[in-house]
Amino acid sequence: MLPDADLLYAALAARDPAFEGRAFACVRTTGIFCRLTCPARTAKRGNVSFRASVADCLAEGFRPCRRCFPAGRPD
Ligand SMILES: [Zn+2]
Repeated sequence: MLPDADLLYAALAARDPAFEGRAFACVRTTGIFCRLTCPARTAKRGNVSFRASVADCLAEGFRPCRRCFPAGRPD
């Protein structure tokens, strides 16, 4: 069960390490998903939704961010 989306968005905006791995942020406008601690600029609230796992993000067609490597760093 995911925490409240507004709480997650606040964590994303703050890059709060306490939320690392608890949820992933999917950005509708870019088709990218991120760790909540991603160093990239935070997308607008209305464009961000949250998933509990990397698998959920991938299943919906989002691609992993190249700043924070939510699916793990490539070899
Ligand atoms: Zn990212």
